[in-house]
Order: sequence, then structure tokens, then C-alpha cells
Amino acid sequence: MKHRAKVLLAAALCLFLLGGCSGKQAAGLDEKRTSTVFAMDTVMELTVYGPEDVLRECENIITSLEKKLSATDPGSEIYALNEKGTAQVSDETALLISDALCWCEKTSGALDISIYPVLKAWGFTADAYRVPGEEELAGLLSLVDYTGVAVEGSSVILRDGMQIDLGAVAKGYTGDRIMETLASAGIRSALVNLGGNVQVLGKKPDGSPWRVAIADPVKSGYIGYVETDGGAVITSGGYQRFFEEDGVTYHHIIDPSNGCPARSGLLSVTVIGNSGEMCDALSTALFVMGAEKAADLWRREGGFEAVLVADDGRVLVTEGLKDSYHALSGGKAAVIGRD
Ligand code: AMP
Ligand code: MG
Repeated sequence: MKHRAKVLLAAALCLFLLGGCSGKQAAGLDEKRTSTVFAMDTVMELTVYGPEDVLRECENIITSLEKKLSATDPGSEIYALNEKGTAQVSDETALLISDALCWCEKTSGALDISIYPVLKAWGFTADAYRVPGEEELAGLLSLVDYTGVAVEGSSVILRDGMQIDLGAVAKGYTGDRIMETLASAGIRSALVNLGGNVQVLGKKPDGSPWRVAIADPVKSGYIGYVETDGGAVITSGGYQRFFEEDGVTYHHIIDPSNGCPARSGLLSVTVIGNSGEMCDALSTALFVMGAEKAADLWRREGGFEAVLVADDGRVLVTEGLKDSYHALSGGKAAVIGRD
């Protein structure tokens, strides 16, 4: 049910995004090509105006990164690391872990890649959902502390019993790799939607900016859209993956301070910026932090914009989106200013 909902959501999002942009297609480089890949536990849609072999290259990037980075695939580098507590990994994986650790620090641990033992206890890694007891959670939380992850060259060492998961950053990083590959192949127009993580290259072939819709976290449809001609628009929301027990909804974004699904007053966070990896890390972290701390981080760090949907129905957008965010259902967004 949950996956079905996700598949429908991704398909609907793409229809909205791409509607009206399949007009006249020139031959060769500018031909529109699409592909759907199921990877990283989600549906990924690729739209590239360019030759077929470039699309295949993008698909290969997705499958090879999934093989390396999946926490659940017994053949992956992360799996081996989690099993043994220490491992030699590829330079790419080591770099991604180092980057993710920087985001853990910048977000004061709202992002914590060592959350994996807690995620497992909630059953999010194996679709075997359950609500762990307080004692169990307290025990597992003693293993959650990103400062216990050390990267030395291509060696990664975890403090005793710790395990990591790059689920909060992997899709954004994958999008970045795809965008780099497309740009160096001379592609001028492309959009990838990696399960709600949208990244675009250039403008639409007709020269207009892409419109990326932001899902309504409560009901089907969209609350608004942003216009972009390059970069990432990445959303984290409790509605993307959840289960219900005894009338309570539990979602997949965990607050590392208590080991429970984050209840920060936000239903979704969309982060907009140049780097998919950064936007992915931040969308997860800001969701955990809540509106006030998210705004503080935006003022302090800069380099990104955000759309926050609160559980009281308010939509808040950072100042840089004043002109590029468009509300769809008549609602007006409040602007988060610099002071
Ligand atoms: P995203 O969809 O990018 O918000 O990432 C959510 C995924 O990140 C979850 O499915 C988990 O694999 C992982 N995750 C959940 N909570 C956290 C957290 N606080 N810090 C780091 N990773 C997390
Ligand atoms: Mg994320």
C-alpha cells in the first residue's frame, strides 16, 4: 500500500512536471528520452534531451551507486562496514561519508548517519514495522553518535556496535553524479526525479524554466511549485514513508535525540540549492529541527532556500523564494526573512 502510494505519487509528480514540455522534438542531441528505474527503494524517472547512450549511462550510475551505498544489500560497502565495524571503502564512498559527517555537524546532529540501529528497530529497513519499547530505544540510542565515525583516507572505522545509513543523502548525491555526467556529455536540458528528489539541468528545451511541484503532505495534489533553471529541489516528508499502529502514524525520519519519528511541527521540508547532496542532507535535517531552528540554520549557513509546510497548515518560504515560489491552492506563503 505504502509503496503503491509512492509509485503513484512519483508518477503524478512527473506528469505535472513534464506536461507540456514534449512538444516538437528535434533529432539527435535534443531528442527527448525517458527512463524509469526502481532503485534505492523508490521510483526514479529520468528525462533527458539527448542521445540514448547518455540515458543508459545515468541508469548505470544509479545501479552502481545503489550497489555501493545500500545499507541492506549484503554486497555493498556500507553493509560490509556495518558488519565488521571497519572497512576499506572506495574513495567515492569515503568522501560521501565525510561530507555527510560535515552535515551532521552543521545540523548539530539533527542529521545523524549512525541512526541505522534505531531505524532497524522501527522496521523501516525491512518493511517489518513495529514500535520499539522505551528501554530498547534507550539501549540503541547509546549507539547513535556521528562523532564515533572516523574516516581516514579510504578506511572507515565505527565505534563499537555502531552502524551507518546514507539513506538521507544518497539520492541527492546520485542526482549530482547524474547531472555532472549529463553536463560533460554536452546535454543542455534534463530533469531527474529520484523519488521526490528533483534535479534539473538547464532550462526546458523551449527556453522556459522547469516548474517543480511540491506535494501536499496531507492530501493528493500539490501546494505549489518553484521555478528553476538548474539545481536541486529536494523534499523530505513524513508522508513519504510511514506505518500506522493503534491509530498513531509513525514515519521514517527519526529524531536522533529520542529515537522516535521526528515531531517537530513540520509535515514536509523542501530544500532548493545547487548541490543535491546538500539539499538532501538539509531536507532531512530541517524536518527534524522544526521551523524555528531551520530558519536559524538558513540565516547562519545560507547557500540554500527552503519551503516548510507546518502541521497547522502554514507554508513558510525563505526570502530567496519570494518570487520563484508559487502557491497553487489559493494559500499564501509566509516569508522567512533574514532577521
Ligand atoms: P530523506 O528521504 O532524504 O529525508 O531521508 C530519509 C532516510 O534517511 C530514512 O529512510 C533513513 O534511511 C534515514 N534517516 C532517517 N532519519 C535520519 C536522521 N535523523 N539522520 C540521518 N538519516 C536519517
Ligand atoms: Mg535527505
